[in-house]
Amino acid sequence: MADKFRGLVLSQQDKSVQAEFQDLSVDDLPDGDVLVRVDWSTLNYKDGMILNGLGRLVRHYPHVPGVDFAGEVVSSGDGRYAPGDQVILTGWRVGEAHWGGYAQYARVRADWLVPMPDGLDGAHAMAIGTAGFTSMLAVMALEEQGVSPDQDGEILVTGAAGGVGSVAVSILTKLGYRVAASTGRKDTHDYLRGLGAVSIVDRSELEDASKPLLSERWLGAIDSVGSSTLAHVLSEMKYHGVVAACGLAGGPDLPATVIPFLLRGVRLIGIDSVMCPYEKRVSAWDRLAQDLPMVGLDSATTKVALRDILPWGEKILKGQVRGRLLINVQ
Ligand code: NDP
Repeated sequence: MADKFRGLVLSQQDKSVQAEFQDLSVDDLPDGDVLVRVDWSTLNYKDGMILNGLGRLVRHYPHVPGVDFAGEVVSSGDGRYAPGDQVILTGWRVGEAHWGGYAQYARVRADWLVPMPDGLDGAHAMAIGTAGFTSMLAVMALEEQGVSPDQDGEILVTGAAGGVGSVAVSILTKLGYRVAASTGRKDTHDYLRGLGAVSIVDRSELEDASKPLLSERWLGAIDSVGSSTLAHVLSEMKYHGVVAACGLAGGPDLPATVIPFLLRGVRLIGIDSVMCPYEKRVSAWDRLAQDLPMVGLDSATTKVALRDILPWGEKILKGQVRGRLLINVQ
């Protein structure tokens, strides 16, 4: 490998965060037992927050962001990985508390990696990224609660044109569910129908949280919005419906009542991708390799070079990114 490589480095000056591309060397990288050549990364909502210094996610600067990466092992002090292995990293607060994937090399703990599953390559793994991995965890949560495609009713996906939402629509469709996609962007309706949504719900229909119960509408739901949207969705669940709460794009509050839980036995399941245990990670990645149509994923993916990433960090915070962003790091 070359002595120097490129990386995006965040530094803090007078409480504001500055981003600069710098030449780094392996000695600059933090401790870890596996050195990985990072080929691909992604831009998730959380990356947008970190690039813009929001949410106090990063406590120590200088910092290399990028919460996900895929690449090839260059050297390893851990028996589970050898040079040449293809690996994926998502979560574990990499890109927040540890240096992440927006540099051409990363050094990390072997425990944080998963081997590339059969049927996926680095670019597709990162087109999926934390957002798509979270969608799969949400689908698995619905399944674990007994939701199945042969039951009567639709699965609602909120924030459907975003990263978590787009992948969730694709997976659910492939598995045979009838999917209702909720979006605030009219220009994404054809895109969402192309991913398989059978109906489109305007975001504004789901924003009123003033009524504890409304007509039963949804068999299951995958929510990336939170706040009054999640409260509204809870009030529209069918008897014993299941909601997987993934995100807070609309806000972290939940202005709901317990009535849907008490009168309809509605179940609200939290989804955490960051500290998800290893065995579950491996099975979710295997499921993604099997159950996510690559044609749909490709249509949901925009490829961006690492040097062009900064404006995209602002766009994702404004809800202006459609689907997934794949970052070419090399
Ligand atoms: P994106 O920005 O790609 O998607 C979020 C979508 O939410 C937008 O595209 C938009 O969808 C909708 N949205 C945005 N702002 C609002 C608003 N004010 N009110 C209602 N809807 C809104 O982000 P990701 O898909 O990467 O992440 C989605 C959420 O999931 C984020 O909150 C993120 O932090 C969280 N997340 C959680 C994880 C976990 O482990 N639990 C892991 C990954 C992400 P549309 O245009 O279709 O209306």
